Amino acid sequence: MSKIEQIYDVVVVGGGTAGAMAALEALKQGLSVIIIEKTLALGGTMTNALVTPMMPTYVENTHLTKHIKALLEAYEGKKLTKDSPVVWFNPETVKYVMEKEILDCGGTILYDATLTEAQIKEGSIVEVTLLAANQPCRVKGRHFIDCSGDAALAKAAGIPTRSGNETDGKNQAVSFRFEIGGIDISTLRNWCKNEAYTFNDCLNDQFFEFVHVPNNPACGNLLEIFEAGRKNGELTAADIRYVQAFSIPAKPGVMSFNGPQLPNDHAVTDPLGFSQYVSTGRAMQRRLFQFLKKHIPGFEQAYIAQEARMLGVRESCRIVGQYVLDEADYIARRKFDDGIARADWYVDVHTDDLEVEKEHFKVKYDPGEYYEIPYRCLVSHEVKNYIAAGRHISTTFKVQSSVRIQFTCQNMGVAAAYACKYSKETNIPLNQIDGKALKALCLKEIYTER
Ligand SMILES: Cc1cc2nc3c(=O)[nH]c(=O)nc-3n(C[C@H](O)[C@H](O)[C@H](O)COP(=O)(O)OP(=O)(O)OC[C@H]3O[C@@H](n4cnc5c(N)ncnc54)[C@H](O)[C@@H]3O)c2cc1C
Repeated sequence: MSKIEQIYDVVVVGGGTAGAMAALEALKQGLSVIIIEKTLALGGTMTNALVTPMMPTYVENTHLTKHIKALLEAYEGKKLTKDSPVVWFNPETVKYVMEKEILDCGGTILYDATLTEAQIKEGSIVEVTLLAANQPCRVKGRHFIDCSGDAALAKAAGIPTRSGNETDGKNQAVSFRFEIGGIDISTLRNWCKNEAYTFNDCLNDQFFEFVHVPNNPACGNLLEIFEAGRKNGELTAADIRYVQAFSIPAKPGVMSFNGPQLPNDHAVTDPLGFSQYVSTGRAMQRRLFQFLKKHIPGFEQAYIAQEARMLGVRESCRIVGQYVLDEADYIARRKFDDGIARADWYVDVHTDDLEVEKEHFKVKYDPGEYYEIPYRCLVSHEVKNYIAAGRHISTTFKVQSSVRIQFTCQNMGVAAAYACKYSKETNIPLNQIDGKALKALCLKEIYTER
């Protein structure tokens, strides 16, 4: 078995949305860092699952999120926001920018590296085992940040986890995103404008959103056109259930499709079901593509530019940590003594049933309102040097659908890095840190107090 000799201050499992930020912040704090990433790129769901743009948040972002956005804007040579805090980014650029920042700060990245096991000694993880470039390999560290999105390290380390909703364990719906290129976006948006489409102002190729959701009047005449496609068998009801596409900065003629959203038939933790999602999703992509090419002006010369390299999993496993953030906390816009990150996205559970989804939307925040994520949601009772950041922290099913937003995952990643620095300086294990002290540090260092 290969062994990497260095003992890292911080081992980050999963270099996705939260993991890349956790690693970068830890490096900026002077810690040595290795990232274990199972794909060939950083950014996770943002890049490999093609999830763009970043939905808006009205809470102050960390300095690091602002820094990355500024780098992306400099690289693309254009502003990535229009009239709201939505950030329209190009996933390919995010991969490059995040990697360059981390390497420039002296970080180590292990790509094609999948965590398989964790060795525990006296309540702490001492070493993790991976399959890296098809070689079994060991990595040692002092602090371990689980940014796998799936609580992969928690499971390997024996920390309890939950999956799906509290009633029947059903997960949120999965999507298999893809990009269509060769679109004449000007033609498309002008056509939409004339077809009573009001979802978007249709003024601009860079910030154009194309949406079809059954019965939504903002979709104008698209409703009739898609319904005709369903009736004549070109499309299925599932195909047209949720069609949404965004233009992409610096990719003229390309739009990123937030779908297809797959019929919610399997647990995402079931390996066979997972693979069936991929095949079903690919067939849905093809049907939708053929339909658009045939019926919607602007798509005449279109082609499938790429499909995502990761399935769009909104929710899989969550850790059961020292505190479980729940609906009452969300509704109360609760603040905590150990609140180390802020969030304001609504409860956004994707299911097969639009009516069920609407039920969840009931409490939405006004801009400026937010709740806090307690430090205790990131740490466990069981393992001293473990911390989670990202969509698998300790929450209920519904609240997970609010915390999973990219900005929030990034904020948690930065806070987790601060916790590792604090733990190293004070010798207090991650799961025994007084979150109040950490909150004070986070407010001072990474948030501007409102
Ligand atoms: C279809 C869809 C649409 C969405 N729409 C939006 C949106 O419009 N705006 C928004 O802000 N958010 C959106 N989200 C939510 C958001 O994108 C994700 O919740 C967020 O990016 C998750 O970040 P993360 O860091 O927790 O996980 P990820 O970004 O998924 O990162 C996890 C990383 O861990 C790696 N990994 C996993 N297991 C292992 C292992 N065993 N070993 C090594 N590496 C491993 C993965 O390869 C990945 O890189 C959407 C999500 C989906 C799926």
